[in-house]
Amino acid sequence: MPAVPFDYVAPATVEEAVEALGRYGDRAKVLAGGQSLIPLLTLRLARPDVVVDLNGIEELGRVIHRDHEIAVGSLVRHRALERGEGALAACPLLAEAAALIGNVRVRTLGTIGGSLAHADPAAELPAVVCALDATIVVRGPAGEREVAARDFFVGALTTALRPDEIVVAVRVPVPAPRTGAAILELSRRAGDFAIVAAAALVRLGAGGEIASARVALAGAGPTPARLFAVEEALAGRQPEAAAFRDAARGLGREIAPESDAHASAAYRTHLARVLTVRALERAAGAARGART
Ligand SMILES: Cc1cc2nc3c(=O)[nH]c(=O)nc-3n(C[C@H](O)[C@H](O)[C@H](O)COP(=O)(O)OP(=O)(O)OC[C@H]3O[C@@H](n4cnc5c(N)ncnc54)[C@H](O)[C@@H]3O)c2cc1C
Repeated sequence: MPAVPFDYVAPATVEEAVEALGRYGDRAKVLAGGQSLIPLLTLRLARPDVVVDLNGIEELGRVIHRDHEIAVGSLVRHRALERGEGALAACPLLAEAAALIGNVRVRTLGTIGGSLAHADPAAELPAVVCALDATIVVRGPAGEREVAARDFFVGALTTALRPDEIVVAVRVPVPAPRTGAAILELSRRAGDFAIVAAAALVRLGAGGEIASARVALAGAGPTPARLFAVEEALAGRQPEAAAFRDAARGLGREIAPESDAHASAAYRTHLARVLTVRALERAAGAARGART
């Protein structure tokens, strides 16, 4: 089925894009990699009057390393994250997560900003930016504002973005020394959306104990779930399997999985527990091998 006809705008700057969104309001849709939007258009689940194509905005494709963070432009493709070259090498978790997305065609076109704005509950990158304590930078008619990743996702396919705002970048803190990270997921076939994914970071102290841990899940509720109680339970413990298992035991209280055609809520909770323990173990192993 062809999409319902729409006008097409190709701004050269963020300001022009924001101006177009302001003009058309919620009758406009932003186009980035098109990997989620184009299917919605052709299924007529989205019927915008105008599509605002961000692909000509050079600023959005940059990755900038400054002080203790990298600022990843919203148009940076999953494939670039996966390759992890240049400044992106400072955050290997992004590469590990991007490699799990779809297939090479999807990763070549899909963008980090599109994935975050689309906010699919099963997508890897929203959970990863929550685990990384990243900040989403958005720009609208009133200028720029920053939203903590944990506040950005407000429901399934729903974010804190206003209709006249676009995601311009993601500010990712560079992990401290002696930090390891990992993402693990279960999906029906390689490249499918995760049934559940667990992203974990572990930072070790001078004595080898866990100085801090962070975990976020995809597929365990309508938004990415940060497991704050698990994280708190791990601080100061030795990075051993028993500690990870103890901490993950009560994680059911921090998630709100739903049953659907792919998995029951109970199975998602089970997966969440198993994948959290394994991702923490792997992250701790990487931390031991990390530069001091
Ligand atoms: C076969 C297939 C398999 C896939 N598998 C996975 C998977 O395993 N894991 C996964 O996470 N994803 C998967 N995807 C989705 C893929 O990651 C998409 O790239 C992503 O969801 C959307 O990114 P995009 O750049 O293509 O955005 P688009 O499709 O262009 O846009 C998606 C939505 O975000 C909005 N938007 C885009 N950019 C911005 C911006 N900068 N500011 C504000 N709003 C914006 C659009 O208006 C639209 O509503 C798959 C897609 C396909 C087709």
